[in-house]
Amino acid sequence: MRTPIIAGNWKMNKTAVTAVAFIEEIRAGLDAIEGVEIVVCPPALAIPAVAEAVKGTKIGVGAQNMYFEESGAYTGELAPNMLTPFCQYVILGHSERRAYFGETDEGVNKKIKAALAHGLTPMVCVGESLAQNEAGETHSFVSGQVRAAFAGLTAEQAIACVIAYEPIWAIGTGKTATVEQAGSIIGGTVRATLTDIYGNDVAQQIRIQYGGSVTEKNIAELMAHPDIDGALVGGASLKPTFVELAANAK
Ligand code: PEP
Repeated sequence: MRTPIIAGNWKMNKTAVTAVAFIEEIRAGLDAIEGVEIVVCPPALAIPAVAEAVKGTKIGVGAQNMYFEESGAYTGELAPNMLTPFCQYVILGHSERRAYFGETDEGVNKKIKAALAHGLTPMVCVGESLAQNEAGETHSFVSGQVRAAFAGLTAEQAIACVIAYEPIWAIGTGKTATVEQAGSIIGGTVRATLTDIYGNDVAQQIRIQYGGSVTEKNIAELMAHPDIDGALVGGASLKPTFVELAANAK
């Protein structure tokens, strides 16, 4: 009942020109895939050109970040209404933003509310560090991140969100969590926390992606887990084989 969602986070890669060249290369392949929601998240300056290039296809466009205020003296930030002409999605609280740019749980919560108020689908990232994982703190830390992100959100708003569970130790490292590891945190922690907050009916409707070194080779195995509803993909979304990855997510 949950449509799988595959999102490519291009991070700080590709200019507007090279982004369009790439999307033109993969566009027809992605558009031909049925039953999977597909999103690409280019760097901000490439968003308008990529949005133009995917017009008339099923491919969605997302931003990699957004500020929660409507306008004002926030140098370097992008407001929700600057994204809405081009984007349907926005990645919020990515671990790289939390680690390098000081994003807090409170800020992520405000951004989710602002994104929803503007009709954008937040893709909310949570996940533990290697140290937290080794210390056995994964469940309590990730559950806390989910509670903080969803604080004050109604059930209807929660259903409008996508969550990406991304263990930080698996991002860009080539170390994918095993299906058992990923599935047990996604089911036993993320969805269990949502069940605790909103009840089972609501929690069952919220899509939860896995992220961390997903490729065209391991996606099918991950998707076979009943609690994994898709993937947030970094490195492997920059290659033409992203088409194969998305096709293998059915
Ligand atoms: C990410 O940054 O969201 C990610 C999952 O990256 P990678 O696929 O490169 O590990």
